[in-house]
Amino acid sequence: MILDYLLHKAEKISVPLTVKKSSCSRFRLAESKCGDCINACPFNAISIEDEIQINEKKCEGCLLCTAACKNEAISAEISVNTFEKLKVQHQKILIGCTKADNVHHFRKACIGWLSEEVLLYLAKNFPNGFAIDKTNCAKCVNKPALDFVEKNICSLNSKYPYLNFYTIDRKENLDNFSKVFSRRDFFTILSVGAKKEAVNYSDSQKDVRVYYSDTNLSLKRNAVMALAGDENSNEYLDFVYDININDSCTNCMECTAICPTSSLIENDLGKLEVKAERCSGCNLCSQFCLDNAIVVLRKNEFIMDIEAV
Ligand code: SF4
Ligand code: SF4
Ligand code: SF4
Repeated sequence: MILDYLLHKAEKISVPLTVKKSSCSRFRLAESKCGDCINACPFNAISIEDEIQINEKKCEGCLLCTAACKNEAISAEISVNTFEKLKVQHQKILIGCTKADNVHHFRKACIGWLSEEVLLYLAKNFPNGFAIDKTNCAKCVNKPALDFVEKNICSLNSKYPYLNFYTIDRKENLDNFSKVFSRRDFFTILSVGAKKEAVNYSDSQKDVRVYYSDTNLSLKRNAVMALAGDENSNEYLDFVYDININDSCTNCMECTAICPTSSLIENDLGKLEVKAERCSGCNLCSQFCLDNAIVVLRKNEFIMDIEAV
């Protein structure tokens, strides 16, 4: 189909990543040793000297770095709004990549953006299930992205077996799943996808700005917020951070400037206020605080600490 072909072509020529150096821990704090993106990249495409550099010739668009970076300094502009809309329209969704010659409700250059938090968000928001098309993955250069996603699914399944997500590796099973597409869905997906890619492509020619409200980090936060209704659930305790400010804090407010996610703010009374639900767990604040006043741990780690005392 010509439209499908154009859609694939547009995705291939667009640069799938947006880099926001001001969110990078290494840029914000010289002492930061963060190299999560470098370690995640199977193609040695990332380097950090004065700032993060992505070598476009080496980059295969696996999107693993977007899942690795806690602060979304590297992002693939995956919008939480897209999933909110899909949730209204569909009971189940199929996620894939542009290299697979199949129709999906949502697709990007690869599936490597599916971190544990994002998978959890999708599972919570599509309780009837969502599937990941991996029919093309075995022969793809980005196979490490599939390994990463399968590891995450395995880990989530072992912790929360009631979550409903699965991968599809055979075309015939994909055809069965595709029956959830109506004829109208099919054309809507293609036309929306084509327009979106056209926008992506034109944006890639400009200096693209990324806003937290409409990005992957927001997906991760939404995953946490979807769990916040039950603050005693294991999922909530596993994925939410606690920021503990101890008595050494001098209220200097310097940490409010270092935190890339505005989890530490100065309130109207001039006091340090903690917005733990925004915290990415990057630990920059605790590395930065000269008074050693901040400890950041996942909530369940805090509970284990308390129980050990
Ligand atoms: S993972 Fe993110 S914060 Fe860490 S070095 Fe890479 S871009 Fe910077
Ligand atoms: S998208 Fe994949 S290949 Fe490209 S820089 Fe990120 S991790 Fe490396
Ligand atoms: S509160 Fe600390 S650990 Fe959390 S995002 Fe901000 S700087 Fe990172």
